[in-house]
Amino acid sequence: MSRALVWIRRDIRLHDHHALSQALKSHDQVYLCFIFDKLILDKLPKNDKRLTFIHNGLCELEEKLLEKGSSLLIRHGDPTTEIPTLCEELKIDALYFNKDYEPYAKKRDQVVTKKCQEIEVTALSFKDAVFFEGNEILNKKGEIYKVFTPFKRAWYERFTNNGGNISEYKVSLKNLAPIKNKESILKTDWFNRLGFSREDLALEAGTKAAKKRLKVFADYIRDYDEARNFPAMEKTSNISPYIRHGMISVRDLLRSGMDGKSSGHLTWTSEIIWREFYQGILDNFPHVEKKCFKPAYDAIKWKGKKKELDAWKEGMTGYPLVDASMRCLNATGMMHNRLRMVVASFLCKTLLVDWKKGEEYFALKLLDFDLAANNGGWQWSASTGTDAQPYFRIFNPYSQSTKFDPEGEFIKKWCPELSGLSKKLIHDPSQADMLQQAEANCTLGVDYPYPVVNYKAKRMEALAMYKEAL
Ligand SMILES: Cc1cc2nc3c(=O)[nH]c(=O)nc-3n(C[C@H](O)[C@H](O)[C@H](O)COP(=O)(O)OP(=O)(O)OC[C@H]3O[C@@H](n4cnc5c(N)ncnc54)[C@H](O)[C@@H]3O)c2cc1C
Repeated sequence: MSRALVWIRRDIRLHDHHALSQALKSHDQVYLCFIFDKLILDKLPKNDKRLTFIHNGLCELEEKLLEKGSSLLIRHGDPTTEIPTLCEELKIDALYFNKDYEPYAKKRDQVVTKKCQEIEVTALSFKDAVFFEGNEILNKKGEIYKVFTPFKRAWYERFTNNGGNISEYKVSLKNLAPIKNKESILKTDWFNRLGFSREDLALEAGTKAAKKRLKVFADYIRDYDEARNFPAMEKTSNISPYIRHGMISVRDLLRSGMDGKSSGHLTWTSEIIWREFYQGILDNFPHVEKKCFKPAYDAIKWKGKKKELDAWKEGMTGYPLVDASMRCLNATGMMHNRLRMVVASFLCKTLLVDWKKGEEYFALKLLDFDLAANNGGWQWSASTGTDAQPYFRIFNPYSQSTKFDPEGEFIKKWCPELSGLSKKLIHDPSQADMLQQAEANCTLGVDYPYPVVNYKAKRMEALAMYKEAL
């Protein structure tokens, strides 16, 4: 009898799962496990929402396994010790897992693979998180693309040459090992064990919720092209936390995107390809984790102060759209893409704070935090990245606000103290005189802060700061 262990990581689902599909085809008994990685969890605050999101996703997965007479093995510790130990305890012949392209994960997986070899367990890894890996899409010189548009073109070409199919890795839950599980995720108080609190979530976790979200989104994907820049409209998919934790597969997303030919469908598919682009960049240029993609930009002498960074984090900069966005992030772990671009540009090019500090804060707060996409987004905004906007393109926080939240609806939701201001003043309350402040029941400096810096002056400083380094 041959036994396999499938190590679930950022792929918390039981459908269209490459590693699981292969293990079930090739072995008589298949075990599934998840390791709460001590090395990751020890660095997180105990109220991190992602722990609840992952926990709930694992509960759904275990419920399905229980229906088949199996269960999910859970451990807490260092995966490089826990996985080989489990393999020995269960007399496993082969370990299966899907590839993860983050530098930490790549190193961890190398260690696990080596330790498995030492105990005569074959370790097999599979492409699953992306449709094409970065090194599958090369330019004519055989190099990785560093610019998105030609990458996208080549991505489509390869897709078409491969037959234009998005086939599923079929999972037939037949050979699952019967498990008497003492530490089941459903029956054990893992929050208590791990020392984390169970948090309220803005989104329900799990595959069922992810599929439902995608189905709802299918009704307005046609409008995506036009509506996606207006946060108050809530017309993006909000699928990112699910794809991040693999509660849905990238093939599921591509199928939805390619289900129609409208400009909405095309633009949305293009966003999924952006995701692939950044995964490939991180995989092939891992220095981006710590440094600028373009080395010259490492010389920038960031002039921003801690006080300004703190105001940004708290949503107290005196710039309403920035503050509303940051308060939304702090409360929900979510932020609309347009707003991510606005607050990122504001931090680097108006507050003159190093993009790495913003990246770090997002990494702590985002429910969909993904090193590749986050790093790509921050380096794009700071103009230090692969396909970044030029450094002299600086978002004007006031015009971004009037353009993308014209009625101030989003601002009012997260900065209710500004609700009494007129449609014009809500984008820049510092222009309200004493009478207007009194009428709006909002005293500047008391109910809402004055702008922490002057945008126009800082714009000039930012240009000089970048110029000096380049
Ligand atoms: C500074 C900054 C930081 C970001 N950090 C992250 C992050 O940590 N995790 C993350 O998933 N995305 C990140 N993004 C990209 C983008 O903002 C989110 O993917 C998007 O807002 C998620 O919402 P949605 O699912 O409704 O997206 P939709 O607009 O519905 O797009 C569908 C999917 O496409 C992918 N996608 C969309 N835009 C991008 C993009 N620019 N780059 C890469 N993938 C994209 C995501 O998987 C997304 O779920 C960041 C962008 C910026 C500017």
